Amino acid sequence: MKVFGLFGEKLSHSLSPTIHSMLYKALGLEATYSLYEIQPEMLKDAVQGIKALSISGVNVTIPYKVKVMSYLDNITDEAHRIGAINTIRNRGNMLEGFNTDYIGFGRMLRKNSIVTKKKTAVVLGTGGAAKSVVTYLEDNGVYEIYIISRNPNQIDTFDRSKYRIVDYTSLKSLKHADLLINCTPCGMYPKIDCSPIDEKDITKFNAVIDLIYNPSNTLLMKHAKDNNITTVNGLYMLVAQAAASVEIWNDLTIKEDIMDEIYQHLKNSLDK
Ligand code: NAP
Repeated sequence: MKVFGLFGEKLSHSLSPTIHSMLYKALGLEATYSLYEIQPEMLKDAVQGIKALSISGVNVTIPYKVKVMSYLDNITDEAHRIGAINTIRNRGNMLEGFNTDYIGFGRMLRKNSIVTKKKTAVVLGTGGAAKSVVTYLEDNGVYEIYIISRNPNQIDTFDRSKYRIVDYTSLKSLKHADLLINCTPCGMYPKIDCSPIDEKDITKFNAVIDLIYNPSNTLLMKHAKDNNITTVNGLYMLVAQAAASVEIWNDLTIKEDIMDEIYQHLKNSLDK
């Protein structure tokens, strides 16, 4: 029986155990997935515990995606460029860090036929998810990226020679962009009345992608739909990043229809 799990600080609402147990069942894997709530001062010990307890792999979530990198033996080039990891593989007692949010975001775009090549993108937020999204967009031919922050002058985690890092008022002078991607928690349950931008500014975009999946229809997405703009939420990305972790841990490839089935199951329960 292989042991996998999730490292984070507060995990009681996590959908990951459901997604992972559905993946293991579909693949016929004998495995368990446990939640490990870790206090900040215990993170290093917890990472060493992966080796001591022969845990085969863990996912890592808020607030440890950056800090945990310094305790690993190796980090993929991609995760290094992103500056955050969300997956650790224990192979031969060597811990390697990967970023499957990057992979999940790409799979979600492809699933929804959203093209990035030569497009202009506006990314809201500057945290771990924004880093994965910006790196993916850059690697996939986006023409120009605007990164919107509440405090743009304090941001030192993005290369200012490559991206325009501006505040929310600057967004008002932007005339048009192809993609708007919300990488902030604004609109996430229980703060469902929050929209990161005004409804009148949403008409500037051709597609709105919200990484939030609970609720499945955020206020930002409702405004976009009211203006006949294509919308996508973060649920497929969540399933696809979990599937990518399982692929990395077990050296296998997961068929798209398995991800589709899990996505549909979760969508039905979240829409209830
Ligand atoms: P994070 O590291 O905490 O970063 C969030 C960023 O959003 C912050 O850096 C901040 O940027 C901005 N922000 C925070 N609170 C805000 C508010 N009230 N209003 C406007 N902006 C705010 O979080 P994260 O890991 O990047 O996650 C961001 C969101 O993406 C969450 O909702 C998370 O659930 C979602 N997510 C989804 C998936 C998926 O698979 N679907 C994967 C990863 C993350 P500034 O201070 O620069 O404004």
